[in-house]
Amino acid sequence: MTTNGTVLNYINGQWQPSSASEYLDVVNPATKELLAKVPLSPASEVNEAARVAAEALPAWRSTPAPDRIQPLFKLKNLLEENFEDISRTITMECGKTIGESRGEMRRAIENVEVACGIPMMMQGDFSEDIASGIDEIMIRQPVGVCAVIAPFNFPGMIPFWFMPYALACGNTYIVKPSERVPLTVQKVFHLLHEAGFPDGVVNLVNGSKETVDAILDHPAIRAISFVGSTAVAKYVYSRGSANGKRVQAQGGAKNPVIILPDADMEMTTRITADSAFGCAGQRCLSASVAITVGEARHTYTEAIADAAAARVVGYGLDDKVQMGPVITRQSRSRIEGLIQQGVDEGASVIVDGRNPTIQGYESGNFIRPTILADVNPEGDIAKTEIFGPVFSLMHVETIDEAIKLVNRGEYGNMACLFTNSGPAARKFRYEVQAGNVGINVGVAAPMAFFPFSGWKESFFGTLHGQGKHAVEFFTQTKVVVERWPKEWSRQF
Ligand code: NAD
Repeated sequence: MTTNGTVLNYINGQWQPSSASEYLDVVNPATKELLAKVPLSPASEVNEAARVAAEALPAWRSTPAPDRIQPLFKLKNLLEENFEDISRTITMECGKTIGESRGEMRRAIENVEVACGIPMMMQGDFSEDIASGIDEIMIRQPVGVCAVIAPFNFPGMIPFWFMPYALACGNTYIVKPSERVPLTVQKVFHLLHEAGFPDGVVNLVNGSKETVDAILDHPAIRAISFVGSTAVAKYVYSRGSANGKRVQAQGGAKNPVIILPDADMEMTTRITADSAFGCAGQRCLSASVAITVGEARHTYTEAIADAAAARVVGYGLDDKVQMGPVITRQSRSRIEGLIQQGVDEGASVIVDGRNPTIQGYESGNFIRPTILADVNPEGDIAKTEIFGPVFSLMHVETIDEAIKLVNRGEYGNMACLFTNSGPAARKFRYEVQAGNVGINVGVAAPMAFFPFSGWKESFFGTLHGQGKHAVEFFTQTKVVVERWPKEWSRQF
């Protein structure tokens, strides 16, 4: 996978060391073991990947769709065979629990399975006799060379929201993983190689800003999928669009859950604790704020505080562990600073997870689950994405006030409601301004055959990842109007 512990690029079917002048350490966030070094590849290596991808395009595009999906079927089987190994790699470089890593890879595989339906999903339309003797056809053709720029928190899954669809639709592809977690994608690329994609069809370039900028500016790259923080999503969206590319850019989140007094409190507590503290809160669908309504306040506050305090924190490879570390020491300091800011703005820390000692992993980037109660809705902490295991509690008297509070937020990635009332659920579903909505569900993650539908500051673009949206994003429509007068044909 690596040469002397250095992560490689994969260009034109070959593993290649980068000519980068700068490298970063890839560190296990729980044990602090140095896992590898990752190159920050220069623009010239993106240019090379784009060149070979453009060269591979005509042959791949003209390979019939039923043949194009054969390597994807092989990839699905290879991912199953290597499921445990890749899941362990995710835990080692990213910190999440092994169960969470397995869940992530399950969704990755599901996207490959859905993309195998491309021969039918990318069919066009045909209307006979739009005027006498004239027919009209809509064809879906690939866009060209496409690329994904991925974040650190789902190294295995996120490239699969896009890549299988792009390849199945006849595009060629470049993956730029997060420089903090490049090892999972190294393993995935060994499987892509084994699956038998022709040289140049799928390529890997490691790096950070310079690498991304080269992708945004390269004229052969026609479509870009980005997932990461809102500030970078906006930058990628505006620079990529200004260069005439299709861009879909998924940004950050601040996900609220509303808890009505008629909710099943035992189930609600369990589900919301999993949502807030799963993946150590480093999930774009993590519950970040709970808004209790009326009498829900006291029962829920007590129950969620107990659940937070009871959560088992440690190294994710240990099966008993329910929550791993956050990604870096800097991230941990930032999160602890935000907890203090919440206190300065009037909140009280009813469960304090700062600066814990985790036996055997004293130098890991751990924070235990933390609960901030009575968070000031006007304060910064109510609006800022914390991206750590910190759950903020707010309280209102009616569902209308709760929905208003949710809709005031800048982000729109996810919102959830916990209730036993059908009318309340319907009202919420109808009025809430978020693209992924949960009713008695804490992580409303769409299956691979539904679009991952962030709204507002959580998404820039039109078509989302996964399912039919991905097929639309990775194809361009061509409409043909045809007339064949009888007198031009000897047969009629
Ligand atoms: P990030 O924005 O720091 O990095 C994402 C990617 O952008 C990386 O590949 C990185 O190399 C690149 N990048 C970073 N800074 C850049 C710059 N200045 N110019 C060009 N490229 C740059 O995000 P992250 O910390 O890796 O991931 C966490 C963020 O991702 C959170 O905000 C989270 O909410 C978000 N996220 C969103 C979704 C979603 O579906 N909306 C899913 C997962 C994560």
